[in-house]
Amino acid sequence: MSKILIRGAKVLGGEPQDVLIDGQTIAQVGVGLSADGAEVVEADGKVLLPGLVDLHTHLREPGREDSETVLTGTRAAASGGYTAVFAMANTFPVADTAGVVEQVYRLGQEHGYCDVQPIGAVTVGLEGTKLAELGAMHESAAGVTVFSDDGKCVDDAVIMRRALEYVKAFGGVVAQHAQEPRLTEGAQMNEGVVSAELGLGGWPAVAEESIIARDVLLAEHVGSRVHICHLSTAGSVEIVRWAKSRGIDVTAEVTPHHLLLTDELVRTYNPVYKVNPPLRTERDVMALREALADGTIDIVATDHAPHPHEDKDCEWAAAAMGMVGLETALSVVQQTMVETGLLDWAGVADRMSFKPARIGQAQGHGRPVSAGEPASLTLVDTAYRGAVDPAGFASRSRNTPYEGRELPGRVTHTWLRGKATLVDGKLA
Ligand SMILES: [Zn+2]
Repeated sequence: MSKILIRGAKVLGGEPQDVLIDGQTIAQVGVGLSADGAEVVEADGKVLLPGLVDLHTHLREPGREDSETVLTGTRAAASGGYTAVFAMANTFPVADTAGVVEQVYRLGQEHGYCDVQPIGAVTVGLEGTKLAELGAMHESAAGVTVFSDDGKCVDDAVIMRRALEYVKAFGGVVAQHAQEPRLTEGAQMNEGVVSAELGLGGWPAVAEESIIARDVLLAEHVGSRVHICHLSTAGSVEIVRWAKSRGIDVTAEVTPHHLLLTDELVRTYNPVYKVNPPLRTERDVMALREALADGTIDIVATDHAPHPHEDKDCEWAAAAMGMVGLETALSVVQQTMVETGLLDWAGVADRMSFKPARIGQAQGHGRPVSAGEPASLTLVDTAYRGAVDPAGFASRSRNTPYEGRELPGRVTHTWLRGKATLVDGKLA
C-alpha cells in the first residue's frame, strides 16, 4: 500500500503538523516531514481528527433496503467523516440472533467504507418479554458488546435487570431507549406550550426521565453498565449528573438535532421535524450543550434514521419518526459547540471518536493521532460555509431537517486504516 503525506493539518485543532501514513498505519507525525514517495494531501488550515465513531446508526438492512442499506449507509458515514458505526437492531428480521448480526457485520467488511459493529437486540423481536441470545451474539464473529431495543424501551424492570446482569459477565453494555410507553401513548411532540397551542399529543419529559432514573438505580444495584440513548431533556441531564456523582457506571449520548433544533419548528407541521425523542425547548437545548461540554453527556451519536419519501411526505400524525444525520453531524457540532466556545476540536475528538469507541469497545477506533496507530482519520475544512443540499447525500434517504440551512464545516477526506474512503469531498 502507498504512502500518504497529509501536510500542515491542525491535528485535533492544534499547531499545523504533517502526518505520514504508511499502509494501514500512521508512520510519523511532525513538522517538515519528507514527502518522498508519498502522495501529498495539502491540508493547510484544516483540522485533522481521529475517524469519527457513531454509537447509534440505523442502516435498515436487512428488511428496509428502500430507505438504506449497509452500503449506502456506510457511504453516508464516510462522507460525514465516520470510520465506524454501530448499527441498531431494529431491522427486519430483528438483529436478535448470531446469524443476523454476523450478516450485518460481514456486509460492512465487504463494502469497506466504514467498520460496521452490529448492536444486538436486548429482547426477542424487540418485544420486551424474553431476553434475546445475548451470549451467542457476543460470541459470534460480530463480537457484539452493545445491546439495545432502540425504537422501543426495555420497560419491564425485571427484564432490564436481567439484561444488565447478563452483559456484566463480558463487560457489555445495555443502551436504553428511555421512553415510558404508557406516558407516551398518542404522543406526537414535546409536551409543553407548543403542543398545547397546536393540539398535538404531548410527550412529557418525565416519560424519559423516569426510565433513566430507574435504570441508573438498576445499574447501581446490579453493578453493571448502562448507556442512555439520545437524552433530550434538562431533567435527564440532572439525573445522569447525580448518578455519575454517586459513582454509577452510566454513559449518555445526545444527537446533533437535539443540540440545535427546538419544538418551535413543529409549528410548520413539516414531518421532517418529527423525531423520537421529540425536539424539546430552548432551555433543554442549552442544558444539553452545557452537559456535553462538561462531560455529563459523554458523546454525540447521530441516531441516523433514514426513511423513504412516502413515509415522511404525509400529514404530521401519520409520518414516521426520525431524521438522517451522518452527513451533517460534524457541522452541527461545529456550529453548536465549537463556534459557541463550549468545546475545542480536541473536545470534539473526545465526544465523537475517543469516547464512543471506548463505550462500544470498537477495536482500532478512537485512537490518538500518533505514530504506530491505525490510520483512520478525518480531515475537516472548518472554514467552509454552505447550505445543506440533500440531493448530494450518499444516504438513500433525504429526510434531513437542515435542507437549505447554512451550516459550517465540511469533511474533505476520510481514511479507514490508510485507505481513502472520501477524497476532496467525493466518495472514493
Ligand atoms: Zn431511539
